[in-house]
Amino acid sequence: MDIIAVHGGLDTSREREFMEVLEEATLQGYRLLSADRVQAMEAVLRVLEDSPRFNCGFGSILNLDGEVEMDAAIVDGAAHRFAAVAAIRLVRNPISVACALMEKTDTVILAGDGAVKFARQEGFPEANCVSEEQLEAWHQAKESLARGQTPTQNIFTGLEYHDTVGCVVWDGAGLGAASSTGGFSLKMPGRVGDTPILGGGIFASATSATVCTGVGEAFIETLSAKYVDEQIVSGLHPQQAVEFALRRLADLKGAEGGILAMDAEGRIGAAFNAGRFPVVVLVDGRIRDDFKPVNLKPELDPEIN
Ligand code: ASP
Repeated sequence: MDIIAVHGGLDTSREREFMEVLEEATLQGYRLLSADRVQAMEAVLRVLEDSPRFNCGFGSILNLDGEVEMDAAIVDGAAHRFAAVAAIRLVRNPISVACALMEKTDTVILAGDGAVKFARQEGFPEANCVSEEQLEAWHQAKESLARGQTPTQNIFTGLEYHDTVGCVVWDGAGLGAASSTGGFSLKMPGRVGDTPILGGGIFASATSATVCTGVGEAFIETLSAKYVDEQIVSGLHPQQAVEFALRRLADLKGAEGGILAMDAEGRIGAAFNAGRFPVVVLVDGRIRDDFKPVNLKPELDPEIN
């Protein structure tokens, strides 16, 4: 059985034009999944990084200085391999730089100027990731700050509807996870979120694969992705595991998030405690129309500060 589950980030729209890009991404990954798990995940994320509709690659959210700095990571759970880039700039597909790091070096996390230098050495051309829409949103947010007001832009999406992406895969032999993000609106230059932190916002093992979206600092401080793995190892269904992890995140940090996980039986769990969390699941080449992430917001809202 070949399975790919992909999410489009916390508070991202579930409108057709967004879901179609997520579906296209799963199909691109599916073509490669039986041959190579890592290449399949890279293909999924490249589609999303190339689309301005998601907060990754081109169209990423801007930091306080008006620049795009991105994090991306990939884990091959079966092979116990991990690689990530953090606060990388001026490349179109950070996930491909992370994959090159995994394939060609023993380094597992490369950040900032070092990551950009490595990308150039590997032939990734300089690319602008600032979209006009995000630039306009950044100007508005900065003007609000200058007036002493809280920016009205969604912290995760910058605009109304687009955010971090991630996927989990199962090819019958092993699990994997991959994630890519521009972070959140007006983040400090150099800030690194949970996406490239193994056990924080991403994890995969022989037993489970997990990707997270939401307040990165909270995911890191609670090691939520590793917590999901521990729950699945102890025998829980991935749906129970992600719901436990999200309740714990809300309880410990009062934070919003979305979590997508899969186990080695190909069972999937997805839950969130915000407005939206679009997820597409592809099983043996077919989109599963019946899959819906569970929204815990009504239950957890009283705990959110
Ligand atoms: N988790 C990401 C970060 O903190 C942002 C997000 O998922 O919206 O960088």
